[in-house]
Amino acid sequence: MKTYKIASIPGDGIGKEVIPECEKVLNALSKKHPEVAFEFEHFDWGGDYYRKHGVMMPEDGLDPLRSKDAILFGSAGDPDIPDHITLWGLRLKICQGFDQYANVRPTRILPGIQTPLRNCKPEQLDWVIVRENSEGEYAGLGGRAHQGHPIEVASDMSILTRVGVERIQRFAFKLAQSRPRKHLTVITKSNAQRHGMVMWDEIARHVAKDFPDVTWDKELVDAATARMVNRPESLDTIVATNLHADVLSDLAAALAGSLGIAPTANLDPERRYPSMFEPIHGSAFDIMGKGLANPIGTFWSAVMMLDFLGEKALAGKLMQAIEKVTANPKLHTGDLGGTAKMADVTHAVIEEVSK
Ligand code: ATP
Ligand code: MG
Repeated sequence: MKTYKIASIPGDGIGKEVIPECEKVLNALSKKHPEVAFEFEHFDWGGDYYRKHGVMMPEDGLDPLRSKDAILFGSAGDPDIPDHITLWGLRLKICQGFDQYANVRPTRILPGIQTPLRNCKPEQLDWVIVRENSEGEYAGLGGRAHQGHPIEVASDMSILTRVGVERIQRFAFKLAQSRPRKHLTVITKSNAQRHGMVMWDEIARHVAKDFPDVTWDKELVDAATARMVNRPESLDTIVATNLHADVLSDLAAALAGSLGIAPTANLDPERRYPSMFEPIHGSAFDIMGKGLANPIGTFWSAVMMLDFLGEKALAGKLMQAIEKVTANPKLHTGDLGGTAKMADVTHAVIEEVSK
């Protein structure tokens, strides 16, 4: 029997609701397939922890995570705490501490889900967005001077390193190579950002030589938004910098039907540290505590976790269960226009994986 050690960090808001549901689903999967078990350790980090201790997680909080096989994360965000504290104090601390430089976001229109795109058949939208997750526009460098004066200046520096760009491009080409269409679109803005993005383009051309069986093209980030809406079938695997991919992936989630469905993996592809899996939605305090959250984004993230852990058969089984459930409109939560409760969705998924 293989037992996976999973760190469970629900965080804030509906994160505290969807993560326990996900644990139930994984335990049900293990019950049906006893050759695999999950041992969860819980960490109560987030907004409430901040109110008690003045930090979102302990200074040495990465230590107990280090020995885990993976991290399941809910969301970080609290209406009473500034966003930069909740973000940098927890989620980014883990991403950066464990060098999870590849953020992977699959986007598909699941059975039974409506896309806002007219005339788009589900099979015409099947993307994976790879987001550079360690540097770029969110490197955290910059500053302010002369605050409050007319000459006040503020800057956020975008830092791209050759090592950082090459490793994410290589990861994206490899991922594209593993998918049936073997196509990669490299998102750029080298017409306006004339230093870092020019190097980004150069490195893409260089890395592409090692992947002769992958076709690739280059697209400006602004044009890419229109292409996602007008020609979704022309895209497959997409790689972009931190900010560009941040924006494109929210658009992608909306085009696939709802923020509540979309999953993410923050990967350390070299497996030096544990990788982290989370829904892309935030803490959504407006629906917190009512049992209304859609848990599918978290369940799909667990599929990515199983896949990364090498449990391909279990990943496939859980994904099938999810698709069976989304295909039934009676099991759609409010974000999908339905009236189902979170517990109904979990219950149905558990029933499917227990078959
Ligand atoms: P944060 O500040 O942490 O990003 P947020 O309040 O901005 O949180 P988001 O998660 O970004 O919330 O989502 C925006 C809105 O979409 C929410 O207010 C909520 O109404 C809806 N939503 C998000 N996730 C879900 C979900 N899993 N199920 C149902 N509705 C959701
Ligand atoms: Mg938000």
